[in-house]
Amino acid sequence: MQKLCILGSTGSIGVSTLDVVARHPDRYQVFALTAHSQVEKLALQCEQFNPQIAVVGSAKAASELQRLLLGKNLKTEVSYGSQALCDVASSVDCDTVMAAIVGAAGLPASLAAARAGKKVLLANKEALVMSGQIFINTVRDSGATLLPIDSEHNAIFQCLPHNYNRHPSEYGISKIILTASGGPFLNRNLESLSDVTPDEAVAHPNWVMGRKISIDSATMMNKGLEVIEAHWLFATPAEQIEVLIHPQSVIHSMVSYNDGSVLAQMGNPDMRTPIAYGLAYPERIASGVAPLDLVKIAKLHFEAPDFKRFPCLDLAYAALKAGQTASTILNASNEVAVQAFLDGKIGFRMIDQIIARVLDKIALSSADDIESILECDKETRVITQALLAS
Ligand code: NDP
Repeated sequence: MQKLCILGSTGSIGVSTLDVVARHPDRYQVFALTAHSQVEKLALQCEQFNPQIAVVGSAKAASELQRLLLGKNLKTEVSYGSQALCDVASSVDCDTVMAAIVGAAGLPASLAAARAGKKVLLANKEALVMSGQIFINTVRDSGATLLPIDSEHNAIFQCLPHNYNRHPSEYGISKIILTASGGPFLNRNLESLSDVTPDEAVAHPNWVMGRKISIDSATMMNKGLEVIEAHWLFATPAEQIEVLIHPQSVIHSMVSYNDGSVLAQMGNPDMRTPIAYGLAYPERIASGVAPLDLVKIAKLHFEAPDFKRFPCLDLAYAALKAGQTASTILNASNEVAVQAFLDGKIGFRMIDQIIARVLDKIALSSADDIESILECDKETRVITQALLAS
């Protein structure tokens, strides 16, 4: 019986994870569930899965959750705050941690799980983008198992040799090909994007996701973050990571080998496939995802990305080449700019411009420890907010 901690259980990934877990009560037991403010949704999850601990973001949310759980005859203890997230993620009572908090807020708990040597199912790509080498070294030193949940990275993981040791040349790997749907604005004229609303931008053609990652998909910053994520996960240099537009999202990514072979992983666009893969690894279990019907799909389309139309992709490649703090700054300024767009404070086209200005403004430094990373993240948010207010 695997004991699970699901960080961000009320989000899109969290809900899909619980859907897979519910199909296999003989394999998985939920130790902890966490949310930030969606207390009612978390209460319903507690009623269904009866975790030992439920964590929320504030004292107020905790008392609200306690009130909702009163008289339900559950074993669930309620806790709150970022230390409580780290505690459940590193508890001796759990084996596997689904890291599915959105954004930089997920870094401390994801890292705590890695430090404690857990099986870490990493959806929270921002944690790896922010702290790259530190995160990977932590996994190596603790003996944790790091399994990518992002569908592209999960696909690449599946297409790599089983004993892959992070040395692409030793395995004849010539490049990693990250597929990208191109998001909702792939075929829109660039000038027409100035007036798009948050609701138009979150309406992804293939995937149902949280609001932040949906905006990242529309700007293609999501793919940029994934390029950086792929670099750290698979130890491939930026030059060996290629982005390929594939609007159907059927091929989730590919690995190209120097003998001419290209291995691809395919499936319907449903996150329960990579989640089930991560949960059961190295076995395979049913996920509830419908079988792929290639006859019905009939045609797969591919095109090269237009870096002028998607400047965020260019910014991410440049940040990866510039070094760790550039990626940390890219991530933090993106989070602030995306929130400002979702709040109706800036237009869609301003997102990339703000990030570029912040990257120009902050001097890059070496960040060898997590404290420096968190400091850089904090400073970037202050500078981005100041730029937005000016
Ligand atoms: P959602 O916005 O749907 O969910 C985010 C989760 O994190 C919620 O449980 C939310 O709680 C919690 N949360 C938000 N802010 C905080 C905070 N400050 N502290 C603690 N918890 C917090 O996001 P997604 O599920 O879409 O994405 C989660 C992660 O997975 C992201 O990093 C994303 O990039 C990655 N990912 C997502 C994919 C998808 O298909 N959705 C695909 C690949 C990667 P509450 O509900 O209470 O606000």
